[in-house]
Amino acid sequence: MTQRASVVDSVSQPPADAGDITGSDRIPLTSLTLEELRDLVEAMGETRYRGDQIGRWLYRRLATEFDQMSDLSAKLRRDLGQRSRLHALKIARVLDSADGVTRKLLLTGSGGVSVESVLLPRRRGMTLCLSSQAGCAMRCPFCATGLGGLRRNLSSGEIVDQYLLARRLAPGGDIGSIVFMGMGEPLANLKNVKSAVERLVSSEYCGLGARRITISTIGLRGRIRRLAEWPWRVGLAISLHAPNDELRCRLVPPSRSFGLEELMAESVYYQRKTGRRVSYEYVMLDSVNDSPDHARALRDLVAGQLCHINLIPYNSVAGTGYRGSPRAAIERFRQALELGGVPVTVRRPRGRDIAAACGQLAGEKDETAS
Ligand code: SAH
Repeated sequence: MTQRASVVDSVSQPPADAGDITGSDRIPLTSLTLEELRDLVEAMGETRYRGDQIGRWLYRRLATEFDQMSDLSAKLRRDLGQRSRLHALKIARVLDSADGVTRKLLLTGSGGVSVESVLLPRRRGMTLCLSSQAGCAMRCPFCATGLGGLRRNLSSGEIVDQYLLARRLAPGGDIGSIVFMGMGEPLANLKNVKSAVERLVSSEYCGLGARRITISTIGLRGRIRRLAEWPWRVGLAISLHAPNDELRCRLVPPSRSFGLEELMAESVYYQRKTGRRVSYEYVMLDSVNDSPDHARALRDLVAGQLCHINLIPYNSVAGTGYRGSPRAAIERFRQALELGGVPVTVRRPRGRDIAAACGQLAGEKDETAS
């Protein structure tokens, strides 16, 4: 199928605020907290309140240029434009899926790194699948992002920017929920993910409900417990993919030093502490993890937990050697879990034609990469 770049934000028409992302020393305003915005305008000889006004333009009115900020003086807008830019990321390209709704955003961050986000339709409006890192260091052998390794962590501004920039492209500017299921392992960049979530949730910034945010992780020692201490009750999805340690170590290499027993203990802690149902993701790989024995072992592993299993049809990634399970095998697996009393759903793949489906985000080829 064809990949067509939409005209709206194609390379030939970069957004007006893009600035020179690679190498600019102008500060991206979305990398600052409101307090820091107030400090910035105060240092420019203005009242601190101007910082709040700028915050509203950034987070509420989704300004695309300084000149739209009509409640600031022309001089302040000019001065701001000289020393800052609006966003930390710039939209390089947008790819539209043939389904007419799913869109992939290719973004560029400082140093020329590529970041990808996907807007996809869900039952209650649009969901944004966003990235926490450029690349990923976890090296899951079936995942396109894992194959390329890690470039760097994304800053909190770069994470929030994915939401702000994607809203411009969502119908009615409306994004109902966010899932951290793009590139990267969110718990390997926990500090920045936490301050991004704080801004996504806070009514002074984006004002999105914590319940509308889900963090997807392979689970790193001690970090699910840290999530459980957050003041916001975000959704937790754990990429399980195997019901025993031997197989999981092959599919999710970092689990060699963090086994299933410990992972389950942290997950149960999260369930008890937050009262929220944890979702286990299980990618269906042909003749690897999809037998009736695997289904039974999986049922036993999660028995009695406040959880739900999400079976993910595998999206092919060239060069991995993995194939997706046939539809009949997925259905058999689903039924076995259901009969065993485990709530289970099968994910509907979206955006395969633009390589925007789960695990297909790999980052654009990047000329500045060494
Ligand atoms: N690092 C996080 C977020 C990754 S992407 C995590 O592992 O949870 C979200 C999900 O997509 C993960 O469960 C991941 O294992 C899965 N995934 C990766 N590659 C895939 C592919 N090619 N097809 C289907 N799912 C895939």
